[in-house]
This record gives sequence, structure tokens and C-alpha cells, in this order.
Amino acid sequence: MKVDIVGNMCTWTQELSTSYIIDDKIMFDIPQGSFKTIYNKYNITKIDFIIISHFHSDHFMDIHLVLDILCHYCDKKDITIIAPKGCRERIIEMLKIVEVKYIEAYMNEHVTFIDCENGKTIKLGEYKIKTYKMIHKDLDAYGFIIENECHEKIGFSGDSCMCNSLHKILRHCNSIFIDCASTTANNKHLSVDEVIELSKEYDQVNFYPVHFSYNALNNLKEKINESNKNIFITHQGQVIEAN
Ligand SMILES: [Zn+2]
Repeated sequence: MKVDIVGNMCTWTQELSTSYIIDDKIMFDIPQGSFKTIYNKYNITKIDFIIISHFHSDHFMDIHLVLDILCHYCDKKDITIIAPKGCRERIIEMLKIVEVKYIEAYMNEHVTFIDCENGKTIKLGEYKIKTYKMIHKDLDAYGFIIENECHEKIGFSGDSCMCNSLHKILRHCNSIFIDCASTTANNKHLSVDEVIELSKEYDQVNFYPVHFSYNALNNLKEKINESNKNIFITHQGQVIEAN
């Protein structure tokens, strides 16, 4: 599977927050401020599916701009959005707030919403997407395994601290894009040390850490060496052929 890293950082950096486009077809999270890059660098009209891991602004806030493009320039194509429960209602509120209520008519006819649930498998085109409830403070937040027809399985932790679901994803995926936002263990995000420990425990899995603060990125660069063969430092704009 091709994974375009649109952004790999957290909110408090100059770079884009973490999001991906997978095989040109699946948009994974749409952070605030990411639309300018998505619009100019990638082809939104190819998007068939959107996955939203949770509703924090750095994962969700530019979605109305993507829907506006699909509504205007794609002959009103049908798309599916996989997200935590209540996504449709939140977008409708957003459309009111930013005065683009005309998108609601497009949404009603052409957008299908599928709610994430822990352990649920969703078949979408040639993909199987399994959703896992993660622990990200008290939010309804999800991680995923996306599997294609060649049985390549890519894990995405979304935003999560250490939890059982993370181990379930790691037991079943070949590669993982994993939260590495923090320098200390906490109840919202994984720390650099936790990611390094997981990479040793699951040494057959390729680890692509994301959602960095500058401190976490520098800390990871200091701590990894030749022995951490399955950790790959990511950067904005990178294209990864993950399998
Ligand atoms: Zn979050």
C-alpha cells in the first residue's frame, strides 16, 4: 500500500499535523490547516473513503473544505466516511458555523457514514478496515488496520496511549504508523520510550512514528541507533510503500 504522509507533526509545530492519503483513495484524518497542502499537492477528486480517528481539531477540522471540493468538482461523487459516532451531526454544525450550508444537500445524497466500533470490520471496495477503540484521555478515539486484497496490513494507532488495542493492532499488522507525541508516558499519547520498547517486542513490524512534538522528535533521534532496525523516522511529504 502506498502511504503519502501529508503531515507527521502535532499542533504546536510549524509543520502540518499528522494525516495520510493511502493509495490515493483513502484520506486518513484532515487536520486544521492541512487543506491548502492537500488541495495543491494531492488529487482530492480521487478520494473514495475518508477515515476520521477522532474529533480533535488536528484530525478533523478541515473536512468541510474537502467535502466542498467533492461537492463541486467531482460530479457529486459518492464517498464513505468512517468515523466515531456522531460525525454527520458534527459536520452539519460545522457547515452552519462556517456558512457553507449548501454542502449539507450533497452530504445527504452522496455521503455514507459508518460508525467506528471496537473490533468492527468494515469492507470498503478492495479494503478491509478493522476499527479498534483506543485510549486517548476520555475521547471516543480509534485505531485501525487497513488490509488490501494482497493481505498487506497497515496499522494506524491514531492518537493513543499504551493500551490493549495497541497490542492487538501490533499483533496483526506488518507496519504501523504510531503516535509518538510525547517524551513522557501519559494518558493521551505514547512516549518515545514506549514506542522504542514496542518496536523491540514486535520486531517483525515496521514502525513509522508520527504526531511528533519537537521534543519528542529530537528525543527519538537521540535514542535510536543501528539496533533499532524497524523504526523509521518519518517526515512531511514522504511517500512510503508499506506492506
Ligand atoms: Zn487527539
